[in-house]
Amino acid sequence: MMSMKKGRSRNNRNNRNNRNNLNQGTKITLYFDIRELVPKKAYDRLGLRVANALHPGLLQGLDILRELVGQPLYINDWMWGGHFTCSGLRIGDPCTKTGAKYSAHKMGYAVDVKLKTPDGKYDPESGLKIWEIIQTNATDELRRRILRVEDPEFTRSWLHIEFCYVWVKKWADSIEVFNPRRPYV
Ligand SMILES: [Zn+2]
Repeated sequence: MMSMKKGRSRNNRNNRNNRNNLNQGTKITLYFDIRELVPKKAYDRLGLRVANALHPGLLQGLDILRELVGQPLYINDWMWGGHFTCSGLRIGDPCTKTGAKYSAHKMGYAVDVKLKTPDGKYDPESGLKIWEIIQTNATDELRRRILRVEDPEFTRSWLHIEFCYVWVKKWADSIEVFNPRRPYV
């Protein structure tokens, strides 16, 4: 009995020490690291707590989309030295300086998704390609989790996707495509 208690308290101490370890526990879904979804400054400041600002529908939907597309999806790349830091959640500097007050990025349910070409560069047609795959092959499960996308004719090199709780959508099989020049939020 005594030794069990000791063991447990030692484990608790280890868990506390590991909580801010950058190399452990940063994978938030099967395919994504928390750092791909949040700004660098917010992660540096808040650590894993920043995950609480991300919508569960986004986390579930992203993995389903990743499996559908069948190749890596890129959102933020600052953890690999890239310049994308505001492609997922937008909180803090510099990500809240522009954009709508109630932007889906600021509320934690939107991402701007990119693909890379075989030579490792961002695919300039990423938005069009991902949207084509969704339109052609998305299962009902994925459609129910995608609230709307920005028309990739305007944002060809990425696809802005807004996820949701399934009960938020009125029509499970439709995905609204909105014109970024006339956003309603
Ligand atoms: Zn976006």
